[in-house]
Amino acid sequence: MEKKKNQDNLILIVCDCLRVDYAYNPDLMPFLNNFKDQNNFSKKSFSNATNTHLAMPTMMTGVHPFSKTNSSGINNKIIGTYLPKIFKINGYSTHGITANIVTSSSFGYNVDWDSWEDFWSQKRKQSGQKYIRKITDKIPQTIKNSLLSPLRKVVRRALPEQITDVKNKVRADKVFQKLKSLPIKQNGNFIFLHLMEPHSPYGTVEDVRKFGISNIKALTGKIYDNPSALSFKDILKIRNLYRNECRYLDKILKEMITYLLEILDVKSTRIIITADHGEALGETEYFMHQSDMVSNRNHIQIPFITKNIPLESDRTYWTEDIYNFLIPSDKYKVIAEPYCVGYKKVSLSLPGIRSEYEPCIVTDLKSIWKIRGKNELPYPIDKASFIDGLKL
Ligand SMILES: [Zn+2]
Repeated sequence: MEKKKNQDNLILIVCDCLRVDYAYNPDLMPFLNNFKDQNNFSKKSFSNATNTHLAMPTMMTGVHPFSKTNSSGINNKIIGTYLPKIFKINGYSTHGITANIVTSSSFGYNVDWDSWEDFWSQKRKQSGQKYIRKITDKIPQTIKNSLLSPLRKVVRRALPEQITDVKNKVRADKVFQKLKSLPIKQNGNFIFLHLMEPHSPYGTVEDVRKFGISNIKALTGKIYDNPSALSFKDILKIRNLYRNECRYLDKILKEMITYLLEILDVKSTRIIITADHGEALGETEYFMHQSDMVSNRNHIQIPFITKNIPLESDRTYWTEDIYNFLIPSDKYKVIAEPYCVGYKKVSLSLPGIRSEYEPCIVTDLKSIWKIRGKNELPYPIDKASFIDGLKL
């Protein structure tokens, strides 16, 4: 008798900002390279979008950037093909853990999971209380009650993103701890893990101890605010910190995969390890993963490693191809568009409202060209969702 489709397992591990040359370096990431050589991998995989805001919705829904929505995150326009939703419809248990705020409940990713953790609500509450206490300590109680209580919620939501603080980065070992606490059966699971090690600010716990938090913060400040002030020595330091993040990530990946292969039925477990995008480390005019830049190949190329999913070694894969490998049934298959789209923010980030973006640059890997809005995208867009400013 044919085996029921929902008895297999699918694991998706996204390593944010993990560039392919570092990922495929066995000296830096010995476990990942051993895993890659024993299974399948692609040398030519690329992200359909320049940063997490639109790359992750594409990976998780198969919808091309800007074809149905201009906003970051998961919303009603694209939720119909959101992976945990279609896995649930197809009889799977769904488990998601993310260390990235951009794939947290704040961006709508928390729906359709049997178990979900994004660490964000808890963090936001804790830091919110700290900030509020600082401000309100000297104010009389009556004023606090009438005036400040309603403001608390707003202040909490308006707090800066925690990922820009090296000490507050949610670490992969925390994700692993959470993973171990989940009631995962041997079969029939979709598991999504989003790890942040290679994301800036770079600096493992060990490096912070070694170089001092103030030195690492000063270097991070330059990357964010004034990259032209970075000396060649600074750039080498940055690359070294990034390398150490990869080394640490490799250690935890080893523990995670070993654990998962122990608790799951190995033969029917498909695994994908990839990134949402790569990272620029000053090879061209920019650092990190600027949303409106596509000129640095290290930024748009991604590692793509699979277990129990054959890959064609000469083919070029895009984020949308990865979606096609993830789906539980061929009926969800999408046409992968061979383009990486860069974009600019066109609305301010306000508490509770997600930013809107507009595409401004495209590459097909052969050339790079500027565009003046989504009408000039090289693929069809859903006309019905043209008026995207209306919030759902
Ligand atoms: Zn990202």
